[in-house]
Amino acid sequence: MEKSIETKCIHSENENRDAVYGAISYPIFQTATFAHKGVGMSTGYDYSRAQNPTREQLDHIVAGLENGVASFSFASGMAAITAVMELFEPGTHVIADNDLYGGSIRLFRTISKKNGIEFTSVDCSKEDISGYIKENTKAVFIETPTNPMMNVTDLEALAKITKKNGLLLIVDNTFLSPYFQNPLDLGADIVVHSGTKFLSGHNDALAGFVITSSQEIADRIGFNLLTTGSSLSPFDSWLVMRGIKTLAVRMERAQENAIDIVKWLGNSKYVKNVIYPGLETHPGHEIMKKQARGFGAMITFEVISKEFALEVLKKVRLIKFAESLGGVESLITYPVTQTHADVPKDVLEANGITDRILRMSVGIEAVKDLIEELENVFDEVACELGI
Ligand SMILES: *Cc1c(COP(=O)(O)O)cnc(C)c1O
Repeated sequence: MEKSIETKCIHSENENRDAVYGAISYPIFQTATFAHKGVGMSTGYDYSRAQNPTREQLDHIVAGLENGVASFSFASGMAAITAVMELFEPGTHVIADNDLYGGSIRLFRTISKKNGIEFTSVDCSKEDISGYIKENTKAVFIETPTNPMMNVTDLEALAKITKKNGLLLIVDNTFLSPYFQNPLDLGADIVVHSGTKFLSGHNDALAGFVITSSQEIADRIGFNLLTTGSSLSPFDSWLVMRGIKTLAVRMERAQENAIDIVKWLGNSKYVKNVIYPGLETHPGHEIMKKQARGFGAMITFEVISKEFALEVLKKVRLIKFAESLGGVESLITYPVTQTHADVPKDVLEANGITDRILRMSVGIEAVKDLIEELENVFDEVACELGI
C-alpha cells in the first residue's frame, strides 16, 4: 500500500540498507569518480556529475513526495528552472504567470529571451489562458500561490486547457512544498522547486528540483544535467535529505504559527492588508481547499507607509530581515528591493507589489515569541515615526 507522505519524507521506496552496511542515515558519497573493474563493467556510477548515490537517494525521495516518475537535484532552484527552459527550441512561445519569483522573471526576460523564447505574462489566477495560445506556444509556467502576492490558480482547470492544447504545464511548487500540494496529481507535467526553501528547511543549503510525470521529459532533463553539470553536490544532497525528514512536522508547525500571526496582523492598526490564502476572504481560498492540503507559512502584508516598512526591517531582532523562506527561522523580506529588485517598476505596480509590502516566512519558533517581537517592533516604529 502507498505510504503516507510523513513516512515518505523519512523512508524511500527503494530503501536498501544492505548496500550501505545498514546505515540509517544515508552515507555521503563524497567522490568525484568511480573505478571500473574493466571495460563495460560500470557499477552504475561513473562520474558524480552524471550519477552519485547520495544524490540519487535524494532524487528517489523527492520523486516519491511529488508522485513523479523521476526527480533531478540541481545546485539551486534557478539551475532547475534554467534546465526546464532548455527543453524549448528557439522560436518557442511560453505563457508565464505575471506574479512569479523575481529570479524566474529575470531568467525569462534575459537569458531565455536571448535563447529565442518569447513570453506572454498572464494573471493565470484570473484570466483564461486560451486567448493567449499561439501556434508556437509550448508551455505554461506558474506558481500557486504566487510569490509574493499569493494569487491562487486552479491547477486542474488550467491542466485541462494545457492538455487539450498540447502544452506543458510547469508549476513552481516551492511555496507549499510537496507536503501540502502535488501539482503532478492535478495534471501538471513538470514541478520545480527551490529546494533551498521548505524542502531543505534550515537555511543552510541551496538546492533545486525538477520532477516530472513524463519519462520522455525525465530523459531530457537527465541529459541536460549530465551535459551542463549543475547537479547538486553529495554533501548538499545529504543536507537536503536530512531536512526533508522533518518536512511534515515543520510544515504543520510553521502553518500553525502563520495562522496565529495572520490573526494578529489582521488586528494591528498599522497593517492595511493581510494576504494569506488561509483567510476565507482570500479570493483563492476555496480553490486552495480543493487542491492543497494546507495554506502554507508565507504571509504577505501591507503596512501603513513605506517608512513604517523600512523601520520594521531595521528593528526586527528575533525575526531576521533576510531573503529566502521556508526555514525553521522566521524571516521577513522587502520584495521591492530584494527578491523582486530586477523586476521592472510597471510590472511591480501592476502586481500590487508596493513599497509598503512586506513578506514573512514563518518559522517554527514559539509563536508567542514571534508575536511579541512584532508587537514590540511595531510599537517602537510607531513611536519613532510619531504615529
Ligand atoms: C527562491 C525561489 C526560487 C529560486 O530558487 P534558488 O534556490 O534561490 O535558486 C524559485 N522559485 C521560488 C518560488 C522561490 O521562492
